[in-house]
Amino acid sequence: QVKARRGNGLCFFDPQMQTAISDRAQLEVDLKNALRQSELVLYYQPQFAQDSTMVGAEALLRWQHPERGLVPPGAFIAAAEESDLIVHIGTWVLQTACAQLLLWQSDPLCERLQLSVNVSARQFRHPGFVDLVLETVACLGSRAHLLTLELTESLVLDNVEEAVARMHQLRARGIRFSVDDFGTGYSSLAYLTKLPLHQLKIDQSFVRNLGVRPTDDVIVQTIIGMAGNLELEVIAEGVETSEQRALLLEYGCGYFQGYLLARPMPVEALYALLAQRTGGIEA
Ligand code: C2E
Ligand code: MG
Ligand code: MG
Ligand code: MG
Repeated sequence: QVKARRGNGLCFFDPQMQTAISDRAQLEVDLKNALRQSELVLYYQPQFAQDSTMVGAEALLRWQHPERGLVPPGAFIAAAEESDLIVHIGTWVLQTACAQLLLWQSDPLCERLQLSVNVSARQFRHPGFVDLVLETVACLGSRAHLLTLELTESLVLDNVEEAVARMHQLRARGIRFSVDDFGTGYSSLAYLTKLPLHQLKIDQSFVRNLGVRPTDDVIVQTIIGMAGNLELEVIAEGVETSEQRALLLEYGCGYFQGYLLARPMPVEALYALLAQRTGGIEA
């Protein structure tokens, strides 16, 4: 270990930490190249109504790495969020998602599908965000309501006034908003009434223990009841078992997303699934 003097104290140079820092830097360089070389792809995880019709999908980012294979966002989004790289990646995601929505408009099987897109805090706060989204949805005309932006509680609460102003500008064009991972953030709920929201998305950590940990059943029932009172849609994420789905149905949850119903998949697989279901074969 190398010791370096800094101010009055000693600061230890930790080779392991140095490795971590340069790994991060390398990851950023690789990601920039990935974006340039079209290695990023969107997967689509279907969302279902109570009667099991497919009503939409969430776009989930993947990195199709030439050597490492398909890399999930957990392995690189945080690194991208440390710089404006996330803004560039987020722009690509939005443009790709909207191009997909536009394509769906000319296909009777897909024309009514909603598409949800995740938005990072740094991307949302970027000065050009509202204009970018407005330009991107221009091609959708009056169908802009088919795009839902997923925001997190902490993103909104970090600066409520600013968030509300931005959301209203986009809401005026028809764009919808969902609060992702709902229930894991702040306990203050007063802000909910200030936001032009369309949907609450119950975090999978509560869904996981439905029927197992009674407090989670209470939390889920409370969220669903509150969404109803606020006239918001409510969707559960991470639905993995038929027991969880049955309980959610019983509690009045409107929409469902999870491995039980469908995994995130390439768009071609989504088409195949839609065609199969419309053909009368129950999934
Ligand atoms: P999220 O938005 O909360 O997405 C839900 C995550 O849960 C996804 O992981 C999805 O594949 C996974 N999931 C879905 N159903 C189940 C289930 O039944 N069981 C379990 N255990 N997991 C399920 P994924 O695709 O790895 O994405 C992780 C996170 O990365 C997302 O969480 C989101 O925060 C972020 N992310 C994904 N795509 C984007 C993007 O385009 N932009 C930004 N900023 N973030 C993204
Ligand atoms: Mg999400
Ligand atoms: Mg989520
Ligand atoms: Mg989550």
